Amino acid sequence: MEEKIKKAAERIKKSRKLVAFTGAGISVASGIPPFRGPDGLWSKYDPSCFDIDYFMAHPKESWRLIKEIFYGFLQNVEPNPAHYALARLGCPVITQNIDNLHQRAGSREVVEYHGTAETLVCMSCGKKFRRDEVDFSSEIPSCKYCGGVLKPDFVFFRESIPKEAFDRSVELAKECDTMLVVGTTGEIMPASRIPYIAKMAGAYIIEVNIKPSNFTYEITDIFLQGKAEEVLPKLVDEVFHA
Ligand code: ZN
Repeated sequence: MEEKIKKAAERIKKSRKLVAFTGAGISVASGIPPFRGPDGLWSKYDPSCFDIDYFMAHPKESWRLIKEIFYGFLQNVEPNPAHYALARLGCPVITQNIDNLHQRAGSREVVEYHGTAETLVCMSCGKKFRRDEVDFSSEIPSCKYCGGVLKPDFVFFRESIPKEAFDRSVELAKECDTMLVVGTTGEIMPASRIPYIAKMAGAYIIEVNIKPSNFTYEITDIFLQGKAEEVLPKLVDEVFHA
């Protein structure tokens, strides 16, 4: 493992354009449960509440869950050593997470592929609100200008990826010569295509995951097995060490 970390660090030092691509695994140590898997949110909550058509038809039922999950227990989370390590590298981050933790750890360019829970959008007039401007005590949080239903600015099921984030992700994937893939198993389309786009454009792929993923045997050049919050600080120390 030490040898592999050294090798990955060498590659990062030589890289002219490094880009990180992150998923739920990087935020687990911050107390955010993953969505999938036996302990995932979807084993406890019904994912159909996050289907865009269901939300439009039943905003009250959807909002009950949205509040409980995203504006309840996820409210007090903090970045963990993996977020801080990545921020030290100073590279752009494409994330599938909606938790704002990369920004809070100090990463400057963060492409939020699946949007964010930090802002909400009015489904009627399109105005956007920061979460601290929204009254979550009503059953259905509403727009203070037109009374329309507010929706969190993250991507619901059957909703398309925000165009700007989609385009920027593809651009970064094509530009980079090294991609650091962290805490994502490549099961969620179309996000999972990003490392493949990078690979096809000639990038070297360094992967950090607790177990082998869809990427590992197909495109990964160095696989660092372990928890993001343990592997990344070691890797980044190695980058800045010598
Ligand atoms: Zn409105």
